[in-house]
Amino acid sequence: MSDNSFYDLIIVGGGPAGLTAGIYAMRAALSTVLIEKGLAGGQVANSDSVENYPGFEYVTGFDLSQKLLNHAKSYDLPVVQQEVAEIQPGLKHHSVRLSNGDNLNAHAVILAMGGSPLKLGVPGEDKYYGKGVSYCATCDGFFFKGKTVVVVGGGDTAMEEALYLAKLCKQVYVVHRRDALRASRILQQRVFGECKIEVLWNTVVTEIKADEGGVCAVHLRDTQTAATRELATDGVFVFIGFSPNNALVPAGIAMNADGYVVTDEKCETKIPGIYAAGDLRQKYARQIVVAAADGCTAALAAAHYIEEKKATSDTCQLTD
Ligand code: NAP
Repeated sequence: MSDNSFYDLIIVGGGPAGLTAGIYAMRAALSTVLIEKGLAGGQVANSDSVENYPGFEYVTGFDLSQKLLNHAKSYDLPVVQQEVAEIQPGLKHHSVRLSNGDNLNAHAVILAMGGSPLKLGVPGEDKYYGKGVSYCATCDGFFFKGKTVVVVGGGDTAMEEALYLAKLCKQVYVVHRRDALRASRILQQRVFGECKIEVLWNTVVTEIKADEGGVCAVHLRDTQTAATRELATDGVFVFIGFSPNNALVPAGIAMNADGYVVTDEKCETKIPGIYAAGDLRQKYARQIVVAAADGCTAALAAAHYIEEKKATSDTCQLTD
């Protein structure tokens, strides 16, 4: 890769959507580069276990992300670890500027930047991040072996991570703001059957407190009675959903009220040749299999678009 390199396709983001797009693009013989600012694999790399990716009854999130990466690399997909600074749509081609100053150009771009965990926004959360506040049980759970932790949230992620933490910790409190969980039935049943997990219903965390050893307690408020209390804990794991990483989405691409990119069924945005795939894209189900399916769709559509674009420019040159 050099400054002003030209590709058929640039993929931004190396999670399941981006890597699957890479597999399909390489198989379609498109000259392709995938740019990922962190480690390839995406959010799934931080999941303890995955039990609903077809073909895998059980696989750790890290293993699945490595399998996806290795699969893409088996087709010699170049994966470049760099941060993207700007994506500039153009009439002839699109450009992707990297933080190191390199400028890449391509006929088509697939946006697969995924999402990031939402924050509670309570006092102590930012201050004690890494000192007891975490957004990844697989990454940080080990530090809480034999200890007490609080898990905030009532969705699939919170339940999966609470179950993971229950294997390590002495006690796990799930703090949920309503009287019913959002998580799938099967995860709810497992949580209710785990004696180390206690669900604190209709409860929110209003502050995270720490002493010299890190997080030591949370302030809780009952959402129905407004009663407050303090609960001693060694750690706080926040799993309250995520927001799309849309900061790099160019102007002119439609997003819904929640910031997800709106596309047609080919994953194409309002700008021809720019596609969105995975958790960044507006959709019904935010699952790994759907992200992978998006990556496939976007790459196949991009291949068709590029083929037509090249054919048109060949015809123009012949008639010039
Ligand atoms: P989610 O489904 O949006 O759940 C977020 C949870 O956090 C909800 O229970 C919500 O409460 C609660 N919450 C939101 N904001 C809050 C706040 N400010 N304070 C306290 N609680 C708050 O998010 P997720 O669990 O990360 O899942 C995201 C998507 O990924 C979902 O579609 C999920 O099915 C999928 N996922 C699937 C799997 C799997 O199938 N293996 C695993 C993980 C995630 P309310 O319920 O009251 O809104």
